[in-house]
Amino acid sequence: MASLARGAGPARGGGSRLPRVPARRMLEILQATYPEARTALDFRTPFELLVATILSAQCTDRLVNTVTPGLFAAYPDAARMAAASPEDLEPLINRCGLYRNKAKHLAAAARALVLRHGGAVPRTMAELLDLPGVGRKTANCVLANAFAVPGIAVDTHVFRVANRLGLASGATPAQVEAQLQRRCPRRAWADLHHQLIWHGRLVCHARRPDCGGCPLRHLCPEGRRRLREAPAEPGARGPARRRAGPAGTA
Ligand code: SF4
Repeated sequence: MASLARGAGPARGGGSRLPRVPARRMLEILQATYPEARTALDFRTPFELLVATILSAQCTDRLVNTVTPGLFAAYPDAARMAAASPEDLEPLINRCGLYRNKAKHLAAAARALVLRHGGAVPRTMAELLDLPGVGRKTANCVLANAFAVPGIAVDTHVFRVANRLGLASGATPAQVEAQLQRRCPRRAWADLHHQLIWHGRLVCHARRPDCGGCPLRHLCPEGRRRLREAPAEPGARGPARRRAGPAGTA
């Protein structure tokens, strides 16, 4: 039976007061700037997405996409992967960071899928969180991208950009997830997740965000602070519609 102890319910911890920012206008700008944002992971089935998402921890999506074709050729579904040992999987994924741990998780998750779900990927947060190697981020990714269940997976980009914009003020991914859910309409969650990731990859970099070229700079508390401290050059770039860039630029 699926456990609730690991946070299977709605994200918690978003109860603190949020900064007053024009969230709706920010979402409109993100939507206009990244209309095609989607997951950069290649997958054909929910099982492939689950595996790819587990592999993507501390690893770029681009690298994962070079690894998964070989892995899925050998182990195309949960039943086949469940018969494999971690040592069988390791040579196929050893270009990913933490590959030994990931091989253990993949083998164990595949066995759990076969034993508990007839080889299918479950469609609920609780059941996904009960699989080895699956946390809220992975579960939200699978739910949103494989089953169109609204969710906001909080990775390093979402965490950073949401906090800078003042859409969240959380110290943990779970807090940021809960705050974004509170602040943004449910229908926007899945797109917002991708848009914040692309914005973090393309503009709002961790070390040197391009605030002068950011379409949100007039609304963003962090951007206004940075631009005040380092005034923009004359002729700084204005807002631009950005296409989702190459995969795996994290
Ligand atoms: S203005 Fe700067 S800090 Fe704010 S979202 Fe844009 S790039 Fe990030």
